[in-house]
Amino acid sequence: MSVNPFKMAQQQINVVGKYIDVDSRILEFLKTIERALIVSVPIRMDNGSVKIFEGYRAQHSTVRGPGKGGIRYSEYVNLDEVKALATWMTWKSSLLNLPLGGAKGGVCCNPVELSKAEIQKITRRYTSEIINVIGPELDIPAPDVNTNAEIMGWIMDTYSMNMGHPVPGVVTGKPIEIGGSVGRQSATGTGLFYVLQALYQKLDFQLKNQKIIIQGFGNVGGIIAELLYEYGCKIIAVSDISGGLYSEKGLDIAKLINWRNQGELFKDFPSNDYHKISNETLLTNKCDVLIPAAVENQITKDNAEKINCKIILEAANGPTTPEADEILNKKDIIVVPDILANSGGVCVSYFEYVQDTSSYFWDLERINKELNKIIINAFEDVWRTSREKDVSLRIAAYIIAVSRVAKAIEYRGFYP
Ligand code: NAD
Repeated sequence: MSVNPFKMAQQQINVVGKYIDVDSRILEFLKTIERALIVSVPIRMDNGSVKIFEGYRAQHSTVRGPGKGGIRYSEYVNLDEVKALATWMTWKSSLLNLPLGGAKGGVCCNPVELSKAEIQKITRRYTSEIINVIGPELDIPAPDVNTNAEIMGWIMDTYSMNMGHPVPGVVTGKPIEIGGSVGRQSATGTGLFYVLQALYQKLDFQLKNQKIIIQGFGNVGGIIAELLYEYGCKIIAVSDISGGLYSEKGLDIAKLINWRNQGELFKDFPSNDYHKISNETLLTNKCDVLIPAAVENQITKDNAEKINCKIILEAANGPTTPEADEILNKKDIIVVPDILANSGGVCVSYFEYVQDTSSYFWDLERINKELNKIIINAFEDVWRTSREKDVSLRIAAYIIAVSRVAKAIEYRGFYP
């Protein structure tokens, strides 16, 4: 049975509450959402009919700065999912010590069944419906599952047309030509790579030749697959929503990226060399590093016992439930938590926002250097806290992130 993600996010606050000296009223406040909006998105479809979609935008906390978080298009999006993802964004921004809060949004739709024109109409109407709660000083969306730079461009245009002047800082992850940042698209994958390298250094293991399994082969999964492949790791299995491919000898990642870029799914991949496997089997196959890079709720109490790897690098948000976490801890599997592992995306989003608001753009070398500095500092903080307090990397990351937000609430006080 799948766990309600928002309940899971609240449970994580209860767990960290036992380790930190924070006023219980502040912890209770952090288990709530500052603001959540449900909007109706009626669209004239290509065939002339009208279909009504439901959209959401949730802002968990803006106490340390404007809300920040992606927009997801999926038939599974719901208010509780968006609230959980917004909460995790607050911790991620805080862990990296960025002056941002946490937000998330989405539209409940199946993009596979929609034309590009319909997706554009959904995007523009959804933006119009949430226009009063987003903006460079309020809440800055970004891409997430099934949304991309082009969609961010439509959001920027809709917002700007309504304001009467260009406002590039309203979204990040947009095309470079309209104020996007170099390195944003690859940022989450690049950050994952930096964190994994740093972890291997701490453990005094060689990352090269390690066997890797990746669930989800989109923006994040595809980039980390490419980086690890180029580094000399063996990617033995990958999957998309249709299923996975497995080869003990290692997969040819460039070939699979090409296949994906043609809009094809792995279930249709024509190869006798690779075995077709299900997403469930993929997660429990033996490997050194397992990278869930799809959606939340994948490693649960039902399959945690069967997970057969040394390290889990959480590229997706919320892929592991708290019950599964306990089981993995007992099995001595190192879990690099999402709020640290996949924080490269929000970090370079922050750089994009800084560049937009100052109208001065950096080169890729500067982006990656600053990304590396911020993410490795956060990794070192988490590693040190985990050793000092003898806790998992997840609890250590939460101790740092939640304490920082709690301190900000303490300084600002409860208004009025
Ligand atoms: P994407 O839409 O580009 O790719 C998602 C991939 O996962 C696709 O291959 C899809 O087929 C697969 N997938 C979707 N549902 C699945 C399921 N139920 N089972 C198995 N596979 C499934 O999305 P993305 O941007 O790569 O995001 C992936 C994850 O990373 C999400 O959890 C997202 O919140 C997280 N994340 C993304 C970013 C970013 O910058 N895009 C940043 C931080 C975290």
